[in-house]
Amino acid sequence: MPLLMKEELLHFIWQSKTLLKQPLKTISGEPLQIIQTGILNSDAGPDFFNAKVKIGNTLWAGNIEIHIKSSDWKTHNHQIDRNYDNVILHVVYFHDAEIFYANGKPIPCIELRNLISPLTLRKHHQLQLNQNTIACEKIFTVPSSTELLNFMARLLVERLEEKCARIESSLVQNNNHWETMFYVLTAKYFGMKTNAQPFEWLAQNLPLSVISKHKNSLIQIESLVFGVAGFLETAHSDNYINLMKREFDFLKKKYQLHTLDKKVWKFARTRPANFPTVRLAQFASLIYQSTHLFSKILATESVSELINLYKIKINNKLNPFEFIGHETKSKQTEIGNAAIETLLVNTVLPVMFLYGKQHEKDELPERTLNFYELLMPENNSIILFWKSMGVDAKNAFESQALIQLKNNYCANLKCLSCIIGKQILLNSDE
Ligand code: SF4
Repeated sequence: MPLLMKEELLHFIWQSKTLLKQPLKTISGEPLQIIQTGILNSDAGPDFFNAKVKIGNTLWAGNIEIHIKSSDWKTHNHQIDRNYDNVILHVVYFHDAEIFYANGKPIPCIELRNLISPLTLRKHHQLQLNQNTIACEKIFTVPSSTELLNFMARLLVERLEEKCARIESSLVQNNNHWETMFYVLTAKYFGMKTNAQPFEWLAQNLPLSVISKHKNSLIQIESLVFGVAGFLETAHSDNYINLMKREFDFLKKKYQLHTLDKKVWKFARTRPANFPTVRLAQFASLIYQSTHLFSKILATESVSELINLYKIKINNKLNPFEFIGHETKSKQTEIGNAAIETLLVNTVLPVMFLYGKQHEKDELPERTLNFYELLMPENNSIILFWKSMGVDAKNAFESQALIQLKNNYCANLKCLSCIIGKQILLNSDE
């Protein structure tokens, strides 16, 4: 018995056309013909529903159960489970025991041991051992462009659905208020990985209802953002910052605002252009320049319109480096295009996709998928790895799909659900 034999491989063999090419017989020697392999069942009960097989001259319709050894039927207690009464064929890798229906008749059984090519088993074994960056690294072949594109479309939707699940839980935490949820998510993004948590706290301590009362005054928005972030607690030598402090002292009392301890903001190992004070200034400008941002986003018809919503400049009276007495020559005051595209790919488009689905606005998920095709691919280690394997992402649609492939399929050895893994195993069978 191959050590790494898995029922999952037998499912794959059962569904592939491999068995159709060979004359088949049941254990009792009757000719067997597979008419329909049935529908894979991922819940409790038999492995495949609604299959059709011909045994001898009789056509049978029902379910298929697959095991590594026929004795697994008893190990899994199927003999006392009525869900298995309608099994028409027991498919096993190794036949080690006769299995019977409740009426005492033997359940027709086919053994796959001599029907799977040794090369398929070797390649499956190789995939399962996974001693490289990805399991198939040494036997990888690029699928045809149509197959790869179809698979990528599935991967992108899967990735979007995972992101949507996280957005839905954030929506629940924000009392199903879309604008608030979007405001909190955007704040988190502005914090990038390092300061996502303090940015989230900031958004939670600075309600949109307060912001909306001051949306026409840039200095008041800046004062609220920097004040709640904890940077306006003491007097400062910079005139503009002192003006902000006076504004904030008043607004803090008026709205009973809680401030963060500025120690929560992390500057270490961050480039000056990404210092949290720079990101806070950009966030304040975004709030000021884009009232009703969420509604505007939903109404955008093109990617360039969407990107333009985020092209914001920091107020030139505000020097974000002054808050920490940092002398810097960095003059970058606006969010770069690459950062905007990352924000769109990871936050804005998934929210648009989910909003469209929840509100039955079919054009939104469709538009979201089109926008992914028009945005640049990410430039990270995963995308570079795939490039070295001959799969070069042309846009964000493909890069998101490849990230999903590596993180969810390769990392969990789901090679039998992957177009590349299937191709490797099927080719070894010819
Ligand atoms: S999931 Fe696909 S790409 Fe990843 S290791 Fe397996 S066969 Fe290769």
